Amino acid sequence: MEKTFVILKPGTVQRGLIGEIINRFEKKGLLLVGMKMFWLTDEILSVHYAHLRDKPFFQRVKDAMVVCPVVLCCWQGKDAVRVVRTIVGATNGREALPGTIRGDYSMSMQENIIHASDSLETAEIELKRFFREEELYDYCPALIKNLYANDEV
Ligand code: ADP
Repeated sequence: MEKTFVILKPGTVQRGLIGEIINRFEKKGLLLVGMKMFWLTDEILSVHYAHLRDKPFFQRVKDAMVVCPVVLCCWQGKDAVRVVRTIVGATNGREALPGTIRGDYSMSMQENIIHASDSLETAEIELKRFFREEELYDYCPALIKNLYANDEV
């Protein structure tokens, strides 16, 4: 089963949406295998957002991520990376489709309340960056037979 990495950004924490957002992934059938609060730093964000380093908004985006602690999550499931990105929606909250998290909770390109890894390779790198091995738990959902057909797991 794939694992993917999610950050509930300061917008989620400050607006009291942590429970609602986690609930969406749980209801979908994804399994929470790691979760912790964490206060990001400019240093770790410079690595996490390295692909934006030449953009004029780079520092502003990083600054907005350190105003309060965030919630880091690891979700597991079949094709979890793609499934979670679909649930999260397009980067710009004004363009993200209704029904997606950003489409339902964000009016902004920057303040889009959530991060999710964009590929399996990125997910592995990001999970290693933010979680120690023993912080990710290996267990099976009790209702696995209600979530997947035999040939899917
Ligand atoms: P995503 O988070 O959808 O994978 P990116 O990796 O391109 O998107 O960007 C990382 C984050 O940087 C976005 O989630 C958003 O918070 C911020 N960001 C991206 N582009 C812009 C922009 N043009 N203006 C302001 N903030 C931006």
